[in-house]
Amino acid sequence: MTTMTDKSTNPIGLYLHIPFCKGKCPYCDFYSVAPRKGVTDSYVAALCRKLDEENRIYDTVYFGGGTPSLLGADNIALILSHIRRTENCEVTLECNPSDTGGTDSVFDFAKAAESGVNRISLGLQSADNEERKALGRRGGCEDVERAIARAKAAGIENISLDLMLGIPNQTKESLLRSVEFCKTGGATHVSAYILKIEEGTFFHKKRENLILPDEDETSELYMAAVDALEKAGFMQYEISNFAKDGYESRHNLKYWRCEEYLGIGAAAHSFVDGKRFYYERSIVDFVDGKPPVDDGFGGDEEEYIMLALRLTEGLIFENFRRRFGKAVPDSVIRKAEFLKKHGLTDTDSEKISLTKNGFLLSNAVICELLANFE
Ligand code: SF4
Repeated sequence: MTTMTDKSTNPIGLYLHIPFCKGKCPYCDFYSVAPRKGVTDSYVAALCRKLDEENRIYDTVYFGGGTPSLLGADNIALILSHIRRTENCEVTLECNPSDTGGTDSVFDFAKAAESGVNRISLGLQSADNEERKALGRRGGCEDVERAIARAKAAGIENISLDLMLGIPNQTKESLLRSVEFCKTGGATHVSAYILKIEEGTFFHKKRENLILPDEDETSELYMAAVDALEKAGFMQYEISNFAKDGYESRHNLKYWRCEEYLGIGAAAHSFVDGKRFYYERSIVDFVDGKPPVDDGFGGDEEEYIMLALRLTEGLIFENFRRRFGKAVPDSVIRKAEFLKKHGLTDTDSEKISLTKNGFLLSNAVICELLANFE
């Protein structure tokens, strides 16, 4: 059951992809290129044009990348002036610590805050500068501290930090120091992702030479991170996401709850009116106005279950019934009860959720739950 969005009154999420980075981190496969003045200007102009065309109202806005802070606060303000927002709209800006917290950084947080930015996301990855270096990150964790202080001085209190698990030379002790940094540094939210070696990246080319924690060690690191983050007051709400009470990312929750969001910009993905579509990974095509590519139907029952199980709230039977007009299939419930005996799921009369062990094996557990889906 899919309902059409009323563009004028129904707020949805908005993702803006800013595909510019000063250098390419060796593990990263997001679409980004080095910024060039003329190119960034025409890209910003194309974003504004597209936003005017869409003329929707949004309750979350997420500037992702790439490195959105590279555009500078004036461009962020210009783009935001083309975005109709609800009163309490969450507006997140991904920032590179060395561009916003470096000693010579000129990023104007006050201007960004004045134009509506109320949440920033910083790539800490690790509080150990040697580990940061091994990941090819520019600058040190002192830049992260300075970026947080500058954002807070401008009135932006909602700060998300990214951590990476299973990175070269990482130990449980160094990971715990990184979690401590998040706690004392004043973060409200932490995303902790396990490093994946993606095809096409520099790490993939060099994979034979990388010394990485093995699968068991990485599992231990994940469990240690979950435990330490929760002790530090960041409660897990998704496989890789943790927040202080009330600071869960409203934008990212839309992805996992199969709610609507529009993606604008090269490589941006959307889910609107039951359809998934995306822009190609090409700045030129986007600036030239090439339309997004249809990715087919989205938000069906299987996809909904798969995404819901990433959340600690799990698959809530009543929400499923309300959305699809029928009950969660018996086959899923029976398998969840079986996996409960193995400590991988929790089930009761209202929902199915994965345990922490279940999260570690989430791909296999979700595949099992959805096998022979009726
Ligand atoms: S990790 Fe972030 S800063 Fe590094 S290349 Fe990817 S998008 Fe750019």
